[in-house]
Amino acid sequence: NRRLLLASRPHGAPTAANFRLESQPVPEPDAGQVLLRTVWLSLDPYMRGRMSDAPSYVPPVALNEVMCGGTVAVVERSEHPDFCVGDWVVSGSSWQDFALSDGRDLIKLSGPVLEHPSWALGMLGMPGFTAYMGLLDIGNPQPGETVVVAAATGAVGSLVGQIAKLKGCHVVGIAGGAEKCRYAEQVLGFDRCLDHREDNLAENLSRHCADGIDVYFESVGGKVFNSVLPLMNTKGRIPVCGLIADYNSSGIADGPDRLPLLQSAILRKRLRIEGFIINQDYGQRFDEFFNQMSRWVAEERLVFREDIVDGLDNAPEALIGMLEGKNFGKVVVRVAQD
Ligand code: NDP
Repeated sequence: NRRLLLASRPHGAPTAANFRLESQPVPEPDAGQVLLRTVWLSLDPYMRGRMSDAPSYVPPVALNEVMCGGTVAVVERSEHPDFCVGDWVVSGSSWQDFALSDGRDLIKLSGPVLEHPSWALGMLGMPGFTAYMGLLDIGNPQPGETVVVAAATGAVGSLVGQIAKLKGCHVVGIAGGAEKCRYAEQVLGFDRCLDHREDNLAENLSRHCADGIDVYFESVGGKVFNSVLPLMNTKGRIPVCGLIADYNSSGIADGPDRLPLLQSAILRKRLRIEGFIINQDYGQRFDEFFNQMSRWVAEERLVFREDIVDGLDNAPEALIGMLEGKNFGKVVVRVAQD
């Protein structure tokens, strides 16, 4: 049983030295337990937060403990009345080949998602749920409004923009690089996608958001937020989903104090800025999301790109790369063949 442990805490960007691969015998299930074999491991930006011991909404991964993570797994052995060998489940079984579970954290997969089990970690799982609730419940987009979405080709952002299009909005994405921007326009169907690496992002945004911005789905922070803020319309909404541009920074960057500008914009424009942590704030509404999203998937109204990484041992490098924008789509690690 290969396991990837957190060997040390990163200062700034994580490096390969923060992880350690070890091998152990495959554990034996007791009565009431199942043995799970990991097939897919989800890599998500929140994992950077768990590597640090700064206070957050959940405790960090302890040093020399296995890295946390959502997985799609197959029941390999069962001593549990509700699970049979061969069942597919979504689990929190972490960065390892095998894990034990008492079943309480497992969601059995059934129906069409079994044709594409990794989607249970993507558009039909946590990132899809995040896009759906953050956009619709907090952003509340109305037909004809302008929605801007950051990290536009990623797991969450690509769905935010497509759902906003389904709701009749003018959608402008922001992504890193020409290839991602082209993809957002030509494949995801966004009206525009702008490259945040170009110097004139603020200028480009104001050109393509001629009626201002009604909803900004925030996943990035930093200079992208600075370009968006002046264009927000009165009564605009900003679901704050993530701030990935800052996840690797170890303190507040030097620079002018922009807080008075932000507070003044909130007041004058009566902005609604609301953070959310998907499972903590919306856990009880998962079925509502899943039913609607499954319908859209069945009707082929959504495109979802995966960035597949082969082999558990490549997970650290893939997580490090995701924090630099090297991924193109939802990052899933194929830990074993299904
Ligand atoms: P993505 O698939 O979007 O991958 C992360 C992307 O972030 C990168 O590909 C890169 O895209 C972008 N990025 C990284 N660094 C920067 C930077 N400095 N400036 C601008 N963009 C950057 O990840 P997810 O879809 O899984 O997650 C997106 C966001 O949503 C994250 O902030 C994450 O923490 C948050 N999230 C929040 C949840 C919640 O409950 N609140 C739940 C799930 C996710 P590009 O190359 O286009 O710049």
